[in-house]
Amino acid sequence: MDIMIETPIIPGQGETIMGQGVKLLPGGKGANQAVAASRLGLPTSFIGAVGEDTFGQQMQQELNRHSIHQSLNIMPEVKTGVASIWIHDQDNRIVVIPGANGEITWSDIERQHALIDQADVVLLQLEIPLETVVKSIKYAYDKGKKIILNPAPARELPEEVYPMLHTITPNRQELSILAGMPELMETDDQSTLHIAMKRMIEKGLPSITVTLGSKGMVYMNKSGNCFHVPGKKVDVVDTTGAGDCFNAALAVSVARGWEMKRAAEYAVAASALAVTKFGAQNGMPSEEEVTAYLT
Ligand code: ADP
Repeated sequence: MDIMIETPIIPGQGETIMGQGVKLLPGGKGANQAVAASRLGLPTSFIGAVGEDTFGQQMQQELNRHSIHQSLNIMPEVKTGVASIWIHDQDNRIVVIPGANGEITWSDIERQHALIDQADVVLLQLEIPLETVVKSIKYAYDKGKKIILNPAPARELPEEVYPMLHTITPNRQELSILAGMPELMETDDQSTLHIAMKRMIEKGLPSITVTLGSKGMVYMNKSGNCFHVPGKKVDVVDTTGAGDCFNAALAVSVARGWEMKRAAEYAVAASALAVTKFGAQNGMPSEEEVTAYLT
C-alpha cells in the first residue's frame, strides 16, 4: 500500500508539521503488473503475501475488482508491505517496509504451484526475497514456462538463472547495477548502453529488454538482433507504474505468441497511455484503449 503524503516542507528532527493531503493507493510492482495484465485482457493469476490487517484486505479487494485470480498468503505475524512516500515540490522521499513481502518463502509459492503450471508466462519482480525468486524461476523453467524477470529493485542475481529467462527488463538505472557499469547513469550514449546489454547477454541471457522512459525501449538478443522502439509523445500526468505497465504488456504479448518487435511496440504504446493518468494501478490502460491508440 502506497501512503502518499503531501507536505509543504520536509520536517526536521523533532519537528511536527501539518501536511497538505494524504492518499492511500494500492501498489507494489507485482500487484501493479497483475492489474495491468488483467486490464490488457489476459486471465491473470497473482501469488503474493499480505498481513492480517486492513491494508491486506484492501489489497485483496483491489485484486478481486480487477478479476485477478489471486493466491495471497496471509501472514498473521507481519504487516502488509507499505511505502511511505513524502512528496514536497517535485521531490519524493520514500521509506519502504516490505512486511509480508519480505517473508514469503518458496514453500509459500510451491503451495500454489498449480497456478504456475497453468501459466503461459511467469512474470517476476524483486520485491520478495531473492532466494524465493530464484527457486520460483527454477520451478517455472523446469515446467517449460516463458519467464520474464523485472529486476526491480535492482540486485545482483546468481548467474545460473540468466539462461532460464525469456528476457529481463531493467530500466537504465537497474541495468547499470546489474552490468556493474555506473557510467551508464552519466551518459545518454547509445554505445555505452549497447556495451552494458552485451555484457548481460554474455552472462547467459537469451535476450534483454531495456526501458528508457520517454525514449521508449531497446532490445537485444544473443543472436545479435537489436532494435529500438521510440517512446510515444503523450501529455504526462504521472509516470508511477510506467515500467509495471510495460512489463505486463510485454508478458501479455509474449503469452499471445507475438514476436518481440510487435510485443515491444505494444508495450511502449500501453505504457505511454499509463503515464497520461494519475496513479499506478488506476492508470493502467485497457486492451481496447491500447488497440485504439495503435490503429
Ligand atoms: P520505470 O518506470 O521502471 O523506471 P521507464 O521510466 O523506463 O521505467 O518507463 C517504462 C516505459 O514507459 C518506457 O519504456 C516507455 O515506453 C514508457 N514511458 C515512461 N515514461 C514515459 C513518458 N514520459 N512518455 C512516454 N512514454 C513513457
